[in-house]
Order: sequence, then structure tokens, then C-alpha cells
Amino acid sequence: MPFHAIVGHRRQTALLARAIERGALPPTLLFAGPMGVGKWRVALATAQALNCLEPRRSPDRPLAVDACGTCRACERIARGIHVDVIAVEPDEKASIKIDVVRDVLSRTSYRPFEGRRRVVIVRDADTLEPQAQNALLKSLEEPPPATVFIMTTAVPGALLPTVRSRSMTLRFGRLTADEVSAVLVRDHEQTEPEARAVAAMADGSVGQALSFGSTDVAVLRETALLLLTQTAGRADVQGRLQAAGAVASSPSKKDRPREELAVVLRLAASMLRDIEAINAGADPRVLANPVAAAELRAIACDFGGDRAREAFVAVDRALVALGRNAGPKVVTEWLSMQI
Ligand SMILES: [Zn+2]
Repeated sequence: MPFHAIVGHRRQTALLARAIERGALPPTLLFAGPMGVGKWRVALATAQALNCLEPRRSPDRPLAVDACGTCRACERIARGIHVDVIAVEPDEKASIKIDVVRDVLSRTSYRPFEGRRRVVIVRDADTLEPQAQNALLKSLEEPPPATVFIMTTAVPGALLPTVRSRSMTLRFGRLTADEVSAVLVRDHEQTEPEARAVAAMADGSVGQALSFGSTDVAVLRETALLLLTQTAGRADVQGRLQAAGAVASSPSKKDRPREELAVVLRLAASMLRDIEAINAGADPRVLANPVAAAELRAIACDFGGDRAREAFVAVDRALVALGRNAGPKVVTEWLSMQI
């Protein structure tokens, strides 16, 4: 997929295109950013822009050069069968061993076979074992002819400082919920309402959105709604603690209570935004949770005035606390008192 088809990351793709146009792309790049936002796709787009047989040049536009996406080279890169574009991915134990790195490096000692530039793309470079990183280091210092290394990672801090210091880091941010939803509809055959509902809880990551099964989505949505409906009528302390208990005992998979609560809270936050929109008389089509529109409309007047916004702030604080290792139970109980 060429740069122009990438959703989001405009600044990063423009920067890469300009560097390629000028022949000034650094030979070692580190794409750092949250899991599932499209770093791998941008790496493949870079490989395409470098090797496309009919690149589009438009020096005055943000994308100074871009791949056509349809020539033989672009097509092979997209299918993962271009001989000069080598993907290195973690094994089933989530690690990349030194043998794999040695094998790849031996293939970079010749000039590219069919392309102009050889591109080695390492997925989750933080999973490279220390010896593997050390083996890579020499090539990063003195890159083989016509070779570009692109490493992607969500945890750049887990790489050896020597590897990091030899790479140019490009930071990737989270996508907006609209961008996540656009990718789900375009590339993953989801319907628009379905995609918007999942995107609302995906924290700007297509990867995270895809990790939810449809039953998970329904259960988590019910749980978030429960938190809001149970507290909507300004329940007393006991009612609020009951709401917290109900959230805690939601019948979903409990092997990751912290992550799951974070999703429920993000969903509750997006519902509170929807409630504000409903109270402001906004067009129903702007709602992030159209599938829950009826339920949200039913409690919207309970959250009138500043209450929806205050509740939103409380949910946000709860998310921060959760991120700082506060226990899920404590966070839920605190929040149920604040909403
Ligand atoms: Zn092409």
C-alpha cells in the first residue's frame, strides 16, 4: 500500500517521501509508536516508494514521491514475495534469534537482485535478543550497499542504546477514532456502525480494534453502559458501589482485568462525549456509539449541564490511575463515586 493510501501519519509519510525524493533517506530507521497504528504498513510503503518501477513524482506536494501500488515491484512487495524486501518477524516465542539475523545479514552482502534498494524490515525490534541486536549493530554502523533497515517497535526503550543511537527515530502517534474506523471499513470488511463502535474503544490502534471479537465488543459495551446507567440517577453510595461491583463482575474474559477495564473506561468516555453531543442537539450521525444511541438518549438528561463533562474528566483520571498501576477494583469504586 503506497503512502497515499496510508490512513493517518501524514507528517511521517511526507518526511519519508521527501527524503526518498532527495536521495537522503537514512539507511537505518526506527519507527517507534503504539502497537497496531500502521508502522509496518508505512515501512512497506517506504519499500515500495524505493523500488516502484513507475513512481509518481510531485516535488511540490507533501508526498514528493510515491509508489504506484500496481507495478510488478509494488505488487510483489505487498504480497511479501519481493526478493529484496526482507521481513524479519518474531517467532512463536516472541523473540528474534541471532541465527535469523545472521541469515538476513548474509543476504544483504550482495547488491539487490531485482530492486533498486534492499529493505530489511524488522517487526517488533524490541524482541531481538541482545546477541541478535549486537550482530545487527555492525550493519547499522556500516550499512551494506543499497540497503535500508527499518525497525518497528512499540517499546523503543527495550532496544540497546547502541542500536537506538545508530538509527533515526520516527515517532508514530495513535490514530483518531475516525481513522481507526476508516481502516476497519476499508480493509477489514466491517460495516460503518460496527467499525465506529469498535474504534471508540480501540485507543487509536487498528491492532487493538481487531483484537476484539464481536462477543467481546457487545459485553464490554454493555459493561460501559451499565456504569453510566447505574450512576445516572445520582444513586446513593450503596447503589454506586453496586454499579462498581457489576462492572467488576462483567461476564467477559478475566485474564486481563486491567486491560479490559481500560477498554470499558475508554468506551464510557466516548459514550459521555456522545451524551454531550445528544444534549447539544448534534446530528445523530456524529455519535461514536450509534449502536447504543437509544440507551444514551435515555440517560442524556441525567447527564445534563456540566455533569457529562465532569464525568468525562473523572473517567480520564481513572484511566491515568489505572495506567499507573492502581488496582482495577479501587479505580472502579472511586470512579463510581465520581460520576
Ligand atoms: Zn509501483
